[in-house]
Amino acid sequence: MERGGTKVGGRCWLVVLLWAMVLLAKTSVPCLAAPVVHTIDARFDPAASTLAVTATLILPGGQGEHVVTLSPSVRDLRLTAGDVAVVFRRARETVRFRTPPGTPSIRLDYVLPLAAPPDELPVSMDNPGGLSSDAVCGPDWAMLMPGSLWHPWLAGAANAYHLRLSAPAGVKAVTQGTLGRIDAQDGRTVTTWDIPKPVGRLGLCLAPYALSEASDAPALVQTFLLAQSSRLASTYLAASAKYLRFYADLHGPYAFTKFAVAENPLPTGYGLPSYTLLGSQVIALPFIPATSLRHEIAHSWWGNGVLVDDAGGNWCEGLTTYVADYLAKEEESPQAAREYRLKTLRAFAALAGQGEDMPLDRFGGRFSPASQAVGYGKAMFVFHMLRGFVGEAAFWQGLRQLYAARLFKPASWEDIRRVYAGRPGFDAARSRRFFRQWLTRPGGPTLRLEQVAAKPNAAGGYDVTAVVGQDGQPYLLRLALAVETEAGRTETTFIMDGRRHTVSLTVPARPVRAVLDPGADCFRLLDAAESPPTVNAVKASRALTVLVADDAPESLQAAVPRLLAGLGLEGARQVQESAVAATGADVLGQGDVLVVGTPRITVEGIVDALALSPESDTAFAVAKRGQGIVAAFAARPETAAKDVEAAAGKITHYGSFGIVGFKEGKNVRKSTPEPADSPLTRTF
Ligand SMILES: [Zn+2]
Repeated sequence: MERGGTKVGGRCWLVVLLWAMVLLAKTSVPCLAAPVVHTIDARFDPAASTLAVTATLILPGGQGEHVVTLSPSVRDLRLTAGDVAVVFRRARETVRFRTPPGTPSIRLDYVLPLAAPPDELPVSMDNPGGLSSDAVCGPDWAMLMPGSLWHPWLAGAANAYHLRLSAPAGVKAVTQGTLGRIDAQDGRTVTTWDIPKPVGRLGLCLAPYALSEASDAPALVQTFLLAQSSRLASTYLAASAKYLRFYADLHGPYAFTKFAVAENPLPTGYGLPSYTLLGSQVIALPFIPATSLRHEIAHSWWGNGVLVDDAGGNWCEGLTTYVADYLAKEEESPQAAREYRLKTLRAFAALAGQGEDMPLDRFGGRFSPASQAVGYGKAMFVFHMLRGFVGEAAFWQGLRQLYAARLFKPASWEDIRRVYAGRPGFDAARSRRFFRQWLTRPGGPTLRLEQVAAKPNAAGGYDVTAVVGQDGQPYLLRLALAVETEAGRTETTFIMDGRRHTVSLTVPARPVRAVLDPGADCFRLLDAAESPPTVNAVKASRALTVLVADDAPESLQAAVPRLLAGLGLEGARQVQESAVAATGADVLGQGDVLVVGTPRITVEGIVDALALSPESDTAFAVAKRGQGIVAAFAARPETAAKDVEAAAGKITHYGSFGIVGFKEGKNVRKSTPEPADSPLTRTF
């Protein structure tokens, strides 16, 4: 996903609960009634790259065999009960031991080595996952993912934690639960946390943070920011409070004691129970509070609140995307919401065209364009279509019901189906068919408006019939048909469950045009004619010729190398307009062309980028040219060279758009014109 000029994936990491599921599934130790209380004293030593831990576990179950999970890379492990060494067996991430009679507690001492961070990490939120189980540190920080298994966890039991983390002066710790104290002791900083009911394993981030707090939200809101970002505290406190309130109203009470935004010294972002890590490089971007932060906060309800039963596919990214990223567009305007849905369909069509599709019930959270288009995009549409079937009030009420019933318990797509089955218009059989088709089938329906006809009626209006068709095994769909007339527009909705469906409606005036699914509310495979060319098509071009107009402003010509470098097209062939005009030969051929400035010679398909983006001083637009594409890069002559240069470097970040415009180097337009040619449109 691209937002506001910098590439920041909308994907995030929910790493905790997967571990919890795996660990619970692998062990069969009987569940102890009272929690196992872990008192953990840890000392971070950046010079040695270690975390030295002393953990005392109070075992209410008393004597017997216990299984603790702990990182296999832990060294110098010793177990003692009182002063007596306890024999244990280690196998990969498990430590087995028996407690001697009369000893309700056991002490573990060990050292966890911390790795150096990788040399290079992409500045994005969609890191492919190398860090998800890592424990790494730098000169004054450490980042331990829940999957690093840095602390003991007694299998089959409820675990509770008191943490005391000692670090070099000024270095504070962030994790789940409630912050106790931050004290200076012996030239070091000691942070304490209480986590009576952890959700999965604990992550841990240590860095020289400045702590800010606000308490006017449904829960205490905190920011842990590094010095260079401390000015952002009030922005993040206010945004966190706003979205916590919003989702508490929408879904039900926030289930944690605090929500914290912690800056990650590494560029990756993660969503964790009751806090989020945002990479240093993205935290200052102005759109992050309303986009990535909102998404992570919504995960407090879906993913970290109601947990994912991964057996039948991960539903939480689709739902979180729907109630965060998508709903933000709906709040903006109906047009913005429709544009978001269309963009989702275009992304899916591009993916399906490359054969990378998979059924939704196989999406677990792997991070690739394929998983994004399916697990986020298609899944988001399932919730949107469900809302269409059951209606506005029932949809939101159902989510509240799901949250109340399944908080901190794993839930599956089937649990979601059961919440909605039996609502008016969505009986059990229909609900089964709906979820089965969207979860188990790859791809999507291919729809057509096959015929339209209109007859004048006695009332002075027209009786319209339209035949809708779909290919292959038919989907159960709820669709809308709009008929535009000389006197306005009439819309009707209908349920289609076969290959062909005839819709009849009466309109008050002569019909002009019929449009199936005018709101883009139905998930479907877009026709090739419906996918307008975008910046991504330019980036993907294998044979692009750059044609530089003779009177292109100097500033524009100077920015071409920057533009091409951004698009990954440094090797593209460049020709001057005069050279083309002189030879008279069609050196442009039938291939893709990028036109710089406004040439006098004719280039088939060319569009006027500045006319399409009139508010801009620099613009880029892409159009079809026969089987290929033509892109236009233009700037008004008076535009400062530095602004043209800045715009040239940013165009690549707007891959999914067909028209991009900039003013003084700032993006002022990003849109994609809809092609007139669609199998869903017919004129009378
Ligand atoms: Zn997410």
